[in-house]
Amino acid sequence: MTDQDKPMDVQPHWDGKIEAKIRALKAVDFELAYLALLTYEGIKPLSRWEKPTDDRTLVALRGMGLHTERVRRKVRSGKAFDETIFSRTCMPLEIYAEHFRDRPVDKSAETVRVEGFLFGYPPCCVSQYVRQPYAPHEFPMQQQEVLFHWSCRGCVITPSLIRHYERIHRIVHAF
Ligand SMILES: [Zn+2]
Repeated sequence: MTDQDKPMDVQPHWDGKIEAKIRALKAVDFELAYLALLTYEGIKPLSRWEKPTDDRTLVALRGMGLHTERVRRKVRSGKAFDETIFSRTCMPLEIYAEHFRDRPVDKSAETVRVEGFLFGYPPCCVSQYVRQPYAPHEFPMQQQEVLFHWSCRGCVITPSLIRHYERIHRIVHAF
């Protein structure tokens, strides 16, 4: 790809290395590459990948300057599986591991609040989700689809966040 073919909104501070890592992650899964770039750009403090990851995936994430960690969880039947979490800094990884390592997956209010904080979700949307998951809202569904949180009705934060999510989504698509 020459410079002329690059998507218009690619960040000027990116070097070819970041682009190569995003391409490698996208070859594994589009959503993994999308999460990695959202995290790299600081839009999400922490991201979680719940599918199995191989060492090459970890190398690609670390090659972007992200810290990674595997966290063992359990499903309700007791069967264990590994999540991969990644962040620009160690703090979110530590908080996540403290709360969730070796714990069963659950959807308690506490879990939703801790995850919402770490994943960069607006606090109003997190509170609404605790009261009633997927409550109806007026936010356009096409935009809702590129988010990882469910917008609350009349949200004052999601409309500011959406253009950043959409920009990263377009870039990963173009790569
Ligand atoms: Zn909200």
